[in-house]
Amino acid sequence: MKVTINGGHYPGLDSGAVGITTGLQEAVVTRELMQSVAGYLRAVGYTVLEVQENNLSQITSASNAFGAELFVSIHCNAAASTEAKGTETYCYQWGSSGARLARCIQKQIIDNLGTVDRGIKTANFHVLRETECPAVLVETAFLSNPEDEQLLAETAKRDEFARAIARGVTDYVAQS
Ligand SMILES: [Zn+2]
Repeated sequence: MKVTINGGHYPGLDSGAVGITTGLQEAVVTRELMQSVAGYLRAVGYTVLEVQENNLSQITSASNAFGAELFVSIHCNAAASTEAKGTETYCYQWGSSGARLARCIQKQIIDNLGTVDRGIKTANFHVLRETECPAVLVETAFLSNPEDEQLLAETAKRDEFARAIARGVTDYVAQS
């Protein structure tokens, strides 16, 4: 099974969201999560492309050239209100394989991290639209919320996010 794992944003060029309490940068969190998820999937025999680029077209081109069968983009959320928190996972359209993959990953994160379940959503994001395989974008938790930020800042909890995302992928593959 060939899977692309994309860490959202790019350290040094595009920090993405910034943690409200510690200044933790989304691009740094997603790089670590990408590497961890890739490691867990390689451990069960998957071939994994890790890609983190500032240019979205480079991400999707690399994934398509790799021949990915699944694509997972990892992000952290932010909102104007510090109250907003929880996990949501995006797919391109309802009824698709991507929607099933999104449900598998969302369920693992909610069950294992206990974050607020904000559900599955659809979006016309470049990385969902231009990938030639089932694709999802996971918003793990909110860096603009102090409790969620704490989860992403703690090494053990961050690792639990990575394990949950990897298990979501393997759950999807087992069901398909
Ligand atoms: Zn992001």
